[in-house]
Amino acid sequence: MLYLNVHFSEKDEAKSKYARWDPEKKKWYATNEKYYYRFSKWIEGESVATNNVYIAVMDRECWKCKNETPVYGFAVRSKGIIDITGETDDIEEYTGFDTVIIPISSNDVPEEVRKYLSESTKCEIRFSKTIKKSYFSNICTHCNTLQGNHFVYDEVDSFTGIETTMLEENPISYIKFKLVNDIPLIYEAGDHIVAPPVKIFDENNIIESGISIE
Ligand SMILES: [Zn+2]
Repeated sequence: MLYLNVHFSEKDEAKSKYARWDPEKKKWYATNEKYYYRFSKWIEGESVATNNVYIAVMDRECWKCKNETPVYGFAVRSKGIIDITGETDDIEEYTGFDTVIIPISSNDVPEEVRKYLSESTKCEIRFSKTIKKSYFSNICTHCNTLQGNHFVYDEVDSFTGIETTMLEENPISYIKFKLVNDIPLIYEAGDHIVAPPVKIFDENNIIESGISIE
């Protein structure tokens, strides 16, 4: 199920579309994921995550000190994403990736995941001179230097098709967060790629965080 942002003045409309009311949370919700698109005006995003979500971790060479340092991204399995804009009904087929990895600076990252990163890693809000903005970012564990927020993402993105050996040498680990309810994502499926499907998720590399996201 998915909680909706229905304004009080729109309650009758929500009811007519078969949204249900949660008296405890005082919020409307949708029950059937097949019909989430009908409620798109009350969903803050382009898509909805319906399975568990993950923090993707991989080691990268720090651009400054050249030591290996872990970098993080927010990951959602493509099969568990529903596009509510109607662009596609199969994110995996559409993008070619079995997993979507989103920068940790994104608003898509749930509060619980951000909290875990803040407490368990060196990730923090830093000012980037390059883009002249502060954002939640990866930090080198050796020299404390900002690593940029796209590191895991770029690694995977630059990976479209050929150099699969790289992930074999440097596999991505996935820290799992249990999703109790579905959550909206700002994520929008990118351009359709022609490359063969890229499998980056590895069931053997899952680490349980033990944290549930309500
Ligand atoms: Zn460093």
